[in-house]
Amino acid sequence: MTQETVQSPESLEYRTEVRQLLDILAHSLYTEREIFLRELVSNSSDALNRIQFEMLTNADVVDHGAELAVTLRADRESKTLLISDTGIGMNRDELVQNLGTIAHSGAKSFLQGAKETGASLDEVIGQFGVGFYSVFMVADEVTVTSRSHRPEDQAWSWHSTGESSFELTPADKSSRGTEILIKLKDDADEFANNWRLEQIVKKHSDYVSFPIYLVEEKPIEHDAEDGAEAETDAGTEESQRVINRRTALWRQTPQGVEAEQYTEFYKQLTFDFEEPLLHIHLVTDAPVNMRSILYIPSKLNRGLMSARTEHGLRLYSRKILIQEYNRELLPDYFRFVEGVVDSEDLPLNVSREVVQSNPNIRQMSRALANRLTRELKSLAKKEPEKYIKFWQEFGIFLKEGVASDPTNQESLLELLRFHSSKTGPDEWVTLAQYVERMKLEQEQIYYVLGEDVKTVARSPHLDYFRANDIEVLYLVDPIDGYMTSMLREYEEKQLQNVDDAGLKLPEREQEESTEKVGESDFDALVNRVKKTLGDRVTDVRESKQLVSNPCRLVSPENEFDRDMQRLRRLMEQDYETPKKILELNRSHVLVRNLSGLIQNDSANRLIDATIEQLFANGLLAEGIHPNPAEMVERIQMLMEAAVPGA
Ligand code: ADP
Repeated sequence: MTQETVQSPESLEYRTEVRQLLDILAHSLYTEREIFLRELVSNSSDALNRIQFEMLTNADVVDHGAELAVTLRADRESKTLLISDTGIGMNRDELVQNLGTIAHSGAKSFLQGAKETGASLDEVIGQFGVGFYSVFMVADEVTVTSRSHRPEDQAWSWHSTGESSFELTPADKSSRGTEILIKLKDDADEFANNWRLEQIVKKHSDYVSFPIYLVEEKPIEHDAEDGAEAETDAGTEESQRVINRRTALWRQTPQGVEAEQYTEFYKQLTFDFEEPLLHIHLVTDAPVNMRSILYIPSKLNRGLMSARTEHGLRLYSRKILIQEYNRELLPDYFRFVEGVVDSEDLPLNVSREVVQSNPNIRQMSRALANRLTRELKSLAKKEPEKYIKFWQEFGIFLKEGVASDPTNQESLLELLRFHSSKTGPDEWVTLAQYVERMKLEQEQIYYVLGEDVKTVARSPHLDYFRANDIEVLYLVDPIDGYMTSMLREYEEKQLQNVDDAGLKLPEREQEESTEKVGESDFDALVNRVKKTLGDRVTDVRESKQLVSNPCRLVSPENEFDRDMQRLRRLMEQDYETPKKILELNRSHVLVRNLSGLIQNDSANRLIDATIEQLFANGLLAEGIHPNPAEMVERIQMLMEAAVPGA
């Protein structure tokens, strides 16, 4: 594009989503509008990080020696606020790209949420910064003037009143970086007050690592002798002062940092409103130099629109940010952990790709994971209730770790918690406790897989175990099946699914039930059931374990993906659960009566209906019924038969 064609402003339309967002923001009643400053300062800080990184390898940038900083300048008369930085800057195309379409991920999920939920948008704005556009909560007009760091680029101005379009004009700015001039709305003139700006910066941006200057006008000071003259000769002069704390908290000694500072830093780092559950400040010099603060948030889902697309730790090398979201520093299952890591042992002028293959990263990663596990163990000991809170939010990640990380599996096992047939709804048991409570003759650790605690508590598989007072672990997270298929034993005790057809159980002293369907009648019953259910079951046979339930479905021996079935059913659309064996309780009154009915009235329609419903109950108990609504008509028919006419 040549100079001549763009002398007069060129008007461009916003993308549709931006228009929608601007419309919402302009009419927002959100009371904490101050967060717009957090968003703009954070953009400036990103731009400064990027130029700092660029200059490690490229000396050919505009204003190579300029101080890396943000400056705020307010004017109460004209109700304007100017935010400028010496960051990486934007050329014309980047202005159009970045400020004309939606770049900000928070803004995207915000809009999605705006469509899907009826939740108060005003609240949501605060929780998920909507990036640059939040400036339109306080602005009538915004002018962004930017000069890219590339010597060949020119400066451009972007101007918008927050309606459907924005304008571009070539600008006259020779220094590198971006300036945002905000014409404040009448009811937003508080943001032209210096004390207010300082207050907001301290609250939201105190730990930004670059200086944030506030420009102040001060009366010119005169010497004492000139005191009399000063009255008449009142003038002002400008000065500027850094207003953010700017400390790299992680580089201080842990003893010198207050709990509050950790919390504040966390909030500014993550924009989370809630305090973190736990912080870990780690300082090592050997074998590798590392300064790190890690946080475990208190909630997995931070508010409605928590769809954070990126995760990872902020990685610094000697205070210079080299990666915003590093994923090599912690095993994937610790992806809920937030924080920063800084090391002197990483080469500075390296590309991000090289960082990943650096051997020191592996050292650091091992140290971080070990420390995290250790802190969690200590939390579990010292503050068990707090640990359970953690477990309820993040336990599934540790289970994923047990399944996916053989090297750390053993050390993670201590952190697992379960409900079981012997715990109340608020009680939990560890594997160690389970083993301690095992019966003398018991050799295996028993577990049942299912949808939720209430359902598995009623599982017919538990009949035998209840009758014999043997504890069974309830595994009710979809990931549990994955975990058990990778975790075969604990302290040399095998983990054993109770739905296993070949389950070898210690003999039960059981009073031989007197009332039992006779041999040949039972054969007839089995044949009838097989005929009714056809190939929906692989076999029908007598159960040795059932006590109070009439039937159950068991998995054929060696069914290889048995524990994975629930997970696969959730993940694969057309996954068909493999067929099971139906076991019948020969002593159960329903089974006995059914057998009688087959002998006396084999054409009775209640027979097939009862068989069908027994099978359906089995599927329900396993949490694998494909279509429970199918039962309604049949149950109604059975009820009609059960309730005698007048
Ligand atoms: P986000 O910062 O999450 O990407 P924003 O809507 O706040 O979303 O900003 C969009 C993009 O505009 C940024 O990604 C960045 O590329 C660019 N940008 C915003 N402010 C600045 C700035 N001060 N300096 C350089 N680029 C900026």
